[in-house]
Amino acid sequence: MGKQKIGWIGTGIMGKSMCSHVIDAGYEAFVFNRTKSKADELVAKGAVWCKSAAEVASKADIVFTIVGYPKDVRQVYFGDEGCFAADVKGKVFIDMTTTEPTLTQEIFKRARILGADALDAPVSGGDRGAREATLSIMAGGDRDAFEKVLPILNVMGKSVIYEGKAGAGQHTKMANQIVIAGTMAGVSEAMVYASSAGLDIGTMLKTIGGGAAGCWTLANLAPRVEKGDFKPGFMIDHFVKDMRIAISEAQNMGLRLPALELVCSEYEDLQSKGLGKLGTQALVKEIGGSDVH
Ligand code: NAP
Repeated sequence: MGKQKIGWIGTGIMGKSMCSHVIDAGYEAFVFNRTKSKADELVAKGAVWCKSAAEVASKADIVFTIVGYPKDVRQVYFGDEGCFAADVKGKVFIDMTTTEPTLTQEIFKRARILGADALDAPVSGGDRGAREATLSIMAGGDRDAFEKVLPILNVMGKSVIYEGKAGAGQHTKMANQIVIAGTMAGVSEAMVYASSAGLDIGTMLKTIGGGAAGCWTLANLAPRVEKGDFKPGFMIDHFVKDMRIAISEAQNMGLRLPALELVCSEYEDLQSKGLGKLGTQALVKEIGGSDVH
C-alpha cells in the first residue's frame, strides 16, 4: 500500500512550512488556502491545488487544517464548500489551529456521525518551530486515530503528545498560552528596564538567558526586539484570540486569571492602535520601549 494522500488547508506562516515537511517526507499533498498565492511554493514542490476545502477532503485520506480564527475553522469544516460537504467516510481530520475546545468537540461529533475521525492538534514552537520541524504538538480525540496519524505528526514536530479526549489538545494549548502571556510580559519589561538602566541589551540577554530566566521567548523574540524586527512570527491578533479563549474557558470553570487578563488588555490596547498584525514581541511598544537597544 502506498503512503496516504494528505490534504492541507491553510498555508500561512505555520501551515506552509508544516505542509512542506510532509511533502519532503514523500507524501502526495492536496492543498487549499483562501489566498491562492500563499500555496504557490507548495504547488511548485508538487502539491496539487484544490479549489475548496471540500475538494481537499474528497481527494485526501488525512486532512490537516491550520487556519486563523474559530470562524475560519467553522467555515473550513461546516461551510457550503467545507470539508464536511464531501464524502468523508473513513478519513481523519486534524485541526492544528488554536481554537475553542467546544468547537473542536463539535467537529469531533460531526466527524463521527459522518463515519470519520477528528483530532485537535494545536502546536507550539512558533514560526521557527514550523520551519525547523521542531514543534510541540498536543493532541486530543480518539487514541486510535492519533496512532494512525502519528508518523505524519512526527514529520513536523519533535514532541508529539496525546493529551486525552477531544478538546484536550486545545486545553493544553491554552495552558501554553497562559505561560506565554507571562513570559512575554516579563521579557518585554526586562528589556525596557535594562535599556533605561543603560545596560548592553545583548550582554544582558546572554547573561540571564543562561540562568533561571531562560525561556523560548527570551531566546527567540528578545533578539528580534533588539534588532527592531516586529514582523510576525506570531501575530498579536492571533494571540489576543487565544487569550480571550483562555479567559473565557477559565471563567466557565469558575476561575480568574488576573495576570493573563492584564497582559490581554495590554495587547488589546496595541490592537486599538492598529498594531494587531505585528508580532507578539511588539509588546515592548506598549511599555514605552519601541527602540530598546
Ligand atoms: P496565518 O499566517 O494567518 O495563516 C492562516 C492561513 O489560513 C492564511 O493563509 C489564511 O488565508 C488561511 N485561511 C484562513 N481562513 C481560511 C478559510 N476559511 N479557508 C481557507 N484558508 C483560510 O497564521 P499562522 O501564524 O500560520 O497561524 C495559524 C494558526 O496557528 C492560528 O490559529 C495561530 O493562532 C496558530 N499558531 C500560530 C503560531 C505562530 O507562531 N505563528 C504558533 C502556534 C500556533 P489568507 O492567506 O487568505 O489569510
